[in-house]
Amino acid sequence: MKAVNKKYIIICYSTSEMLNADRAIKSKGIHTDLVPTPSEYGTICSTSIAIAAEDRQLVENTLAENNLDFKEIHPYESRKLSGLIERLKSNITTQTFKDIMNKIQEGLDITKDEITYLLKTESKSEIDGIFTAADQMRKEVVGDVVEIRGAIEFSNYCKKSCNYCGIRKGCTVPGRYRMEEEEIMEGVHQLHGWGIKTVILQSGEDDYYSTETLVNLIKRIKDETKMMITLSIGERPFADYEILREAGANNFLLKIETTNKDIFNFIHPDDDFDERVRCSEWLRQLGYVNGSGNMIGLPGQTPEDIAKDILYFKDMAIHMIGIGPFIPAKGTPFESYPQGSVEMTLRVVAVTRLVCKNVFLPATTALASIDPDGQTKALQAGANTIMLISTPSKYRSNYQIYSNKNMIDLKSAFKAVEESGRKLPKYLKITSEEVL
Ligand code: SAH
Repeated sequence: MKAVNKKYIIICYSTSEMLNADRAIKSKGIHTDLVPTPSEYGTICSTSIAIAAEDRQLVENTLAENNLDFKEIHPYESRKLSGLIERLKSNITTQTFKDIMNKIQEGLDITKDEITYLLKTESKSEIDGIFTAADQMRKEVVGDVVEIRGAIEFSNYCKKSCNYCGIRKGCTVPGRYRMEEEEIMEGVHQLHGWGIKTVILQSGEDDYYSTETLVNLIKRIKDETKMMITLSIGERPFADYEILREAGANNFLLKIETTNKDIFNFIHPDDDFDERVRCSEWLRQLGYVNGSGNMIGLPGQTPEDIAKDILYFKDMAIHMIGIGPFIPAKGTPFESYPQGSVEMTLRVVAVTRLVCKNVFLPATTALASIDPDGQTKALQAGANTIMLISTPSKYRSNYQIYSNKNMIDLKSAFKAVEESGRKLPKYLKITSEEVL
């Protein structure tokens, strides 16, 4: 069993070379998985190709035949969780649960049915066991430090009418706003002053910000702060994503929201599921650190659908996965739909950690908005990232993508980190005493 599972990982010089290599290997009928490059191998290309050990020679020959160069090849151990079964002794009541936890202990992939089982079990001791396992995985794979990032929601104009979203086109908001470069830069400098390393620029789908405008902004942020930049601006053509990447954008957050096509189409009157997936593939191809995520509690969504979402994140080699409960937003077609559950959202965070392992999992604002302890609970369920909202206060009430959106500031972030017994990053230049 163990020998069958042995893998190698191929690290390439660039994302485009990685994708060419992957295509050539697959064309020989050899199975590959795209996986986030383990941090010990540097950050040249954030996605690597995992292959079975027995295919190694054939793969190397194939790459040589096609004149495809690669940087390194290493043995790839899928993360094991030693001692898990022992630790969960009192949680294990069924053979199915034991078999699944055993696979996780041994670093074997679990199936869609097994993921569904974990999402569905009603046994209190098994649910506790899932959280214990996820917390151990989080600790071993990404450690105790909580990554802190800052988001600036720079425009609430949107040309789309997503049925759930409180800033959809045609929705009455207290006011529409757009921040100009100077104002955005003030927010960026504040985050930079606190030592924060990544700024997330989020907005509705607003063509007022041309590629050129965004390029100027990205270049300025890089020149003045060298911060990492995450864009969360929705769907754009390939050429735009390419120009923005070349200008210096590092990460992109474009959530799939659900992989159930029928639900996707029902909640997105202007969007096409395949097009959204294509956007995500483009982002990967361009070498963005690729962010996705879903909402929990969408109309008609089942645990099977969510299991499929989790496998999609894994298969797409997604590095940042934002998992939040659906929250009804006033004035939208979904305003009287039931809210997603905190418990289910936390469980999805935990199972995603167990399946996707080496990824950024934020303790989302949506979770904090419906449960005052939501972020602490998420950090204890496998999450390792907090995104501060750094939108100027005068605009915040206008960026209510859902009703009663909570404010995540340094104070609440410090509180969640402390309550969950975790560590603040060393790069922070501001302490909790200075904030309180
Ligand atoms: N326009 C950008 C940014 C969207 S807002 C884009 O299309 O990518 C960021 C996220 O907020 C969305 O991906 C969605 O998951 C979440 N969101 C929006 N409305 C929500 C609601 N009513 N409940 C929960 N999450 C919501």
